Amino acid sequence: MKRRTMKMKTMPSLHKWPVNIFSWLCCSLILGLGCCLLLANQAIANVLPATQTPAQLIHTELTQDAPSISILEANQATIEEIIEETSQETAAAEIALLFDEAQRYRGTDGAKSSAILQRLEKLRHNLSQEQAYYLDYLQAYQQGILGKHDIALNTLLNVFNNTQSTELKFQSGHTIFNVLAISRRFVEALSYYNQTMALYSQVSDGGLRATSLFAGMMLFNELGDYERVISIRQHSDLATLSEGLRCKADAFLIRAESNLGPSDKVLPFEQGLALCRSAGQPLYESFIRLYYVRFLLANSQYMEAKTELEAHLATSLSTQYKLIIQEYYYLMAKTYWLLGNEAEATLFAERALETSVSEQYSLPLTLSLELSYQMAKQRGDFELALQYAEQYAQADKGYLNQLRVKAMALEMNKAEMLEQQQRIEILKRENQLLTLAQALERKENVNVQLLIVVLLLCLLSVCIWAYRSKRIQSELARLAQVDELTQVFNRRQLVLLGGQVLALAERNKTKVSVIMVDLDFFKSINDRFGHNVGDWALRRVAETLNALGRKSDVFGRLGGEEFAFVLSDCALEQALDFAELCRNEIATIDVSDSLFPGALSLTASFGVTETGLSGYDLEGLLSDADQALYQAKDSQRNCVVKFEAHPITNESDVATDAARDEVREGVSDATTDGTTSVKIGEATDATTGKTVNV
Ligand code: GH3
Ligand code: MG
Ligand code: MG
Repeated sequence: MKRRTMKMKTMPSLHKWPVNIFSWLCCSLILGLGCCLLLANQAIANVLPATQTPAQLIHTELTQDAPSISILEANQATIEEIIEETSQETAAAEIALLFDEAQRYRGTDGAKSSAILQRLEKLRHNLSQEQAYYLDYLQAYQQGILGKHDIALNTLLNVFNNTQSTELKFQSGHTIFNVLAISRRFVEALSYYNQTMALYSQVSDGGLRATSLFAGMMLFNELGDYERVISIRQHSDLATLSEGLRCKADAFLIRAESNLGPSDKVLPFEQGLALCRSAGQPLYESFIRLYYVRFLLANSQYMEAKTELEAHLATSLSTQYKLIIQEYYYLMAKTYWLLGNEAEATLFAERALETSVSEQYSLPLTLSLELSYQMAKQRGDFELALQYAEQYAQADKGYLNQLRVKAMALEMNKAEMLEQQQRIEILKRENQLLTLAQALERKENVNVQLLIVVLLLCLLSVCIWAYRSKRIQSELARLAQVDELTQVFNRRQLVLLGGQVLALAERNKTKVSVIMVDLDFFKSINDRFGHNVGDWALRRVAETLNALGRKSDVFGRLGGEEFAFVLSDCALEQALDFAELCRNEIATIDVSDSLFPGALSLTASFGVTETGLSGYDLEGLLSDADQALYQAKDSQRNCVVKFEAHPITNESDVATDAARDEVREGVSDATTDGTTSVKIGEATDATTGKTVNV
């Protein structure tokens, strides 16, 4: 019942198969359809935005889901969407154009730049976050040009700290250190210079990189580190420059060299001026002209200086760059004064003083005050001269202070750089040490691992060796105990184990029987069917007999076609029965798997004895069993014969070993001589299975 239930559970009955297959097909069909619908839905969702505008989508939804809404209303919504979209697209295009323009006019046309930035400010709500930062940057740049450095700095710092764009961060960074330099905050300027230049390798825009180098040149020019300016000019990124950038680089180089070298050194002024004019860089053109005019004045070429200044005043003013304008006015004042035109000189000196930038003590301011003082003194206006003298002293002091501040800033920066380099060096060394320590640790680990592997290999080899020798030993032991052909005990092992069984039985006073088995006419089996068939027969007989014995019995092959049993705790009667069973089993061995199934028949003869008859000596027992076996052979074979000892009739009631041997020897003739007992036995009839006398 139980088995049936289990069967029911595991094996579905046959008639249900078609139903199950149908269900599976249905499920698969439904699932397949579901997947198709899902995929189709996604495909539609992906395609629609590409092919339909949001306005068209809304229109479709309106006309499909709400047929009651009038077409007019729907169309109205569509038109609004389209207008909105169109205006957005137009704004984006305008923004892109405005940024381009702002970039182009930045620093070249102040008025145009301001107008563009105002328009962009109106469109701020249409800008992305990064575009808004860029607009902030441009506005701050413009403020910087107009001299509103603090406002510019605040905005620039916000852009520098928040933008996600490395390029804009870099760009705002170099504008920051530029503005800081102009604001005389040199320590901070140098700090931002270092921070900005740390990004240098991440910036791919060559123009930006070059501009940052210019800003650096400008900073170090301002700080009076002219050697550094000249060394930056050698930078490979400045090797192939556009006209505009070459103009700027030349302007800085001219400034550095005119500050470094003697005042009468002829520098490539004309070349720089022509380059900047052609590149449309009025700021830098004016910048170079200032040094050119200085050079002319230093070399007493006052008229040339005057012509130069008058011809380019408008260009200079158009830059809106206060420092340049201030210096320009000063140089005009100085030139006019040197030419004896005091009225013009006074006018331009006043203009220079009015142009002063955020209360800074600039060089042109100091020089203008000095000039004004000298002019007032020359006019005899001592009161004014005193005023100018006081202002000049203050400005000169301020200017000198500024120079000191610059020198200090440079020193601090140098010290900071040195400290940083040392720190980097220490870190590098620590890193090297760490790397070495790690390498050492790794090596040690590898060595330990190698040692472990070697030890494991040794252990493994020892184990394999031990296992193999154990196997060889047990194989040898097995070979020493087992007969190779029949795989039952050999004679040696049979004698050994049989002896132990007998010793124990003797101690326990129990009976042991011995049976000897000999195959009948085995020689003729070999002769008739071949040795192989003989071997097969031996194996089958051994296998059959071995299976019949108990665990406590000892069975083995004595040699040739002879086998023996040592049956522990077994009396003669039982042994005879057992021998009879064995005889029967051999006679009924299935010979169908031999090569000659029909012609081959197997029988064996048995000789049986017991300790009660033959004693506890195995040799004696085997000998007696053998004797009985011969009797079986002498009768009809295929029978069981028990050993019978006949009493010895001489004076001694106890048979001596010699007498016993004599008895055994007499078995072969199976006759009696009247003095010793005749050894006769009983044989089992092959047909009836009874033990018979022979
Ligand atoms: P009997 O009935 O009187 O015992 O006759 P028998 O032929 O069995 O006895 P005999 O002693 O004349 O022959 C024994 C034969 O057993 C001789 C030998 O060739 C054969 N024999 C002995 N060992 C082996 C063996 O390992 N394999 C095979 N095939 N034959 C063997
Ligand atoms: Mg034999
Ligand atoms: Mg034989």
